[in-house]
Amino acid sequence: MNKAIDLEAKYCAHNYHPLPVVLTHGEGAFVWDEDGKKYLDMMSAYSAVSHGHAHPRLVKLVQQQVANLNIVSRAFYTDRLGPFLKRACELTGQDMALPMNTGAEAVETAIKAARKWAYTVKGVPEGKAEIIGMSGNFHGRTIAIVAMSDEPQYQHGFGPFPPGFRIADYGDIKSLKRSINENTAAVIIEPIQGEGGIIMPPYGYLKAVRALCERHNVLMIADEIQTGLGRTGKLLACDHEDVLPDGLILGKALGGGVLPVSMFLAKREVMEVFRPGDHGSTFGGNPLGASVGLEALNILVDEGLADRSARLGEHLIGRLATIDSPLIKDIRGRGLFIGIEIDSRYGRARSVCEALMARGLLSKETHETVVRLAPPLIIGEAEVNWAFEQIRDVIAEMDEIRMAS
Ligand SMILES: *Cc1c(COP(=O)(O)O)cnc(C)c1O
Repeated sequence: MNKAIDLEAKYCAHNYHPLPVVLTHGEGAFVWDEDGKKYLDMMSAYSAVSHGHAHPRLVKLVQQQVANLNIVSRAFYTDRLGPFLKRACELTGQDMALPMNTGAEAVETAIKAARKWAYTVKGVPEGKAEIIGMSGNFHGRTIAIVAMSDEPQYQHGFGPFPPGFRIADYGDIKSLKRSINENTAAVIIEPIQGEGGIIMPPYGYLKAVRALCERHNVLMIADEIQTGLGRTGKLLACDHEDVLPDGLILGKALGGGVLPVSMFLAKREVMEVFRPGDHGSTFGGNPLGASVGLEALNILVDEGLADRSARLGEHLIGRLATIDSPLIKDIRGRGLFIGIEIDSRYGRARSVCEALMARGLLSKETHETVVRLAPPLIIGEAEVNWAFEQIRDVIAEMDEIRMAS
């Protein structure tokens, strides 16, 4: 029995099923447990820790800012928010931003912006606006967001849900075309579905979505909370197809692995639907979060983390592709955003993650069959090679056990 695990079991809601490891320290691509055992973090908090744990520039900056000014709410201006949002807009090609804290809040912000844009700009009759989400989507856990999900567990027991959402088949442009009507406000889309199992739509799909949205005067809103900020080998996953969405949602790595920092960005015509009092957040845009967010963006650029993700991701996918085992059904990904799909006839993704953990490599299964590899983007090539060897050996061991039984 472990004390920390027992306390969480007793006092923390059981809404997660963690791997049995108790972490106490993190530095760069590594974390340590309470016995001092070192692990390579190939999970990086669902991509929130792209900069690595305790990035020295972020630690230094937080120490300075925390002693200076942290929270004032947006009842006042601060010297930190403007420079952060300017940088975010310039890097992403958007005009304006609305700062929030968690990803789900930024998605909610996007939904509200899209609806109000539909009523005030597009001319959709009040109460009729529709938002199209994709099959297999993940955008967070609020009531409105799970209303847009087609995953039964995300909804079961939590209804009733707000209306106004539709689902189109992810990766199928004809399905999206059929779902659009005169009341459609927006399409919300992940360029690669992370929680869905590292699902990549066919190349050209994002461009086709962009064109279709333009033709029907529908907003294309990209949820890049997980895929954004270098994760897939470009600053944004939409950049792989040179697509500029009308709205963009960022979170996770925007907080540099230190704080929850998120935002909805959009072209001016969309963001200008918000008037004082329409929407807000006590903590959104606070000077501490804004400083961290700006530094997180600067580090991404200064350290070339997107290019590094592209190079090391290609290298790792190439090596993983050499593993010859019936256990592996598919290997896919872009940059350091990789899924290993386990054939459920031969094994479970969770068992692979447990075996990797015993060897000092942390990852997490998603959707029961996919092992997700998304390490901090500052990871070194030697660590990537070490990770490959652990995965290769775990798969070989599991193959041997299966053959023997
Ligand atoms: C994690 C995630 C969210 C939700 O972010 P939270 O900070 O957990 O609320 C939304 N969309 C995508 C694509 C995500 O990966």
